[in-house]
Amino acid sequence: MHAVIISIGDELVLGQTVDTNGAYLSAQLAELGVMTRCHETVADERADIAEALRRACERAELVLVTGGLGPTDDDLTRFALADAMGCGLIEDAQAVAHIERFFAARNRTMHARNRVQAMRPADAALLSDPPGTAPGIHAKLNNTDVWVMPGVPWEMKAIWLKHVKPTLTAGGGRVIRATKLNTFGKGESDVAALLGGLAERDRNPLVGTTVAEGVVSVRVRSAFDDADEAQRRLGATVAAVRDALGDLVYGRDDETLAEVLGALLKARGEKLATAESCTGGMIGQMLTATAGSSDWYAGGWVTYSNDMKSHQLGVRPELIEQHGAVSKPVARTMAEGALEKSGADYALSVTGIAGPTGGTDEKPVGTVWLGLASRHTETQTHHRCLPGDRAAIRQRASLSALNLLRLQLIGG
Ligand code: AMP
Ligand code: MG
Repeated sequence: MHAVIISIGDELVLGQTVDTNGAYLSAQLAELGVMTRCHETVADERADIAEALRRACERAELVLVTGGLGPTDDDLTRFALADAMGCGLIEDAQAVAHIERFFAARNRTMHARNRVQAMRPADAALLSDPPGTAPGIHAKLNNTDVWVMPGVPWEMKAIWLKHVKPTLTAGGGRVIRATKLNTFGKGESDVAALLGGLAERDRNPLVGTTVAEGVVSVRVRSAFDDADEAQRRLGATVAAVRDALGDLVYGRDDETLAEVLGALLKARGEKLATAESCTGGMIGQMLTATAGSSDWYAGGWVTYSNDMKSHQLGVRPELIEQHGAVSKPVARTMAEGALEKSGADYALSVTGIAGPTGGTDEKPVGTVWLGLASRHTETQTHHRCLPGDRAAIRQRASLSALNLLRLQLIGG
């Protein structure tokens, strides 16, 4: 079975609202083994919506539509659906009663315009007990099932789960199992080269890569008739990907680098401290976004100025004068100072030039020095030349620091 998803609204085509409904529905369909052929985003234009509906019904057996079911003049989906079906609109008495009860229960006045939400194409059905005022609509067009849901994400989800999803689970089709492995430290093309034949497009399970904020994720999607086989083959491909990528892989699905690092520290009963300059606390933020981080994160310093680096962490002013704040010896002494003053087992430091100003020929924007001091081994320092704008450089510098300690703890 194939599906088309249509998202309706001026705010979507103008880029003011991101189409999270389409993403949610696609992910839900994938779990059910239904392949989404395309997403279409349409403005609040009656003729355009009707045209999109007609076209979608020629391409798929299932069409999911969200948006444009509200009570205002720009909510035109029900009218466009009637146009596409070639029928008129009628008022649904049950739906009028529901809307009246909805307003009465909240002590609010029902406006005359809310009655439009009880209108449906004559040949379509309204879905009972809507979570808000807008009921969803089910229609058949060219043998295609068309389901229209409100644009408000929580209302859409409630109607999807109650009315639409149950009609699909009964059907046959392939079972899809999907996961992703997250990597840090190499670019997307390097990861692709390491994957080699695993990334061939006609392979099942299918392996692909996506990159977001410095993290390259390897998606694995397994589609088989039998659920056990889909799961088993997914597991085998995941193992092959792990073999190919080694310790580049830090985690699976939504696991963050900070979470993984926290688990490693917790298992050893050890603590980490941080000394941040150009990242301004971002590493601390990433670490403390993880629940239970007080078990393994001691705390840290944001030493943005040279004075703070000296007063708080004991970096000698001569060292900064001689080498500059963004330098190997400063990264080293920041980490060593943080280790000593915190009493933690490890300390990470970052000093760099996030830009867009402040770069020189010798130290261009993106130059970052990382330090890792530890009770067990000698202090390490690492130089990075990170690409991207200020936000990307700060993000990557933070992740680079976390990854440094992760690799040390797993012995990489
Ligand atoms: P509507 O049903 O068109 O009145 O939409 C109501 C509200 O839901 C809009 O103002 C948006 O904030 C939100 N919305 C509509 N469509 C989407 C979508 N595809 N993804 C996320 N939010 C949406
Ligand atoms: Mg709208």
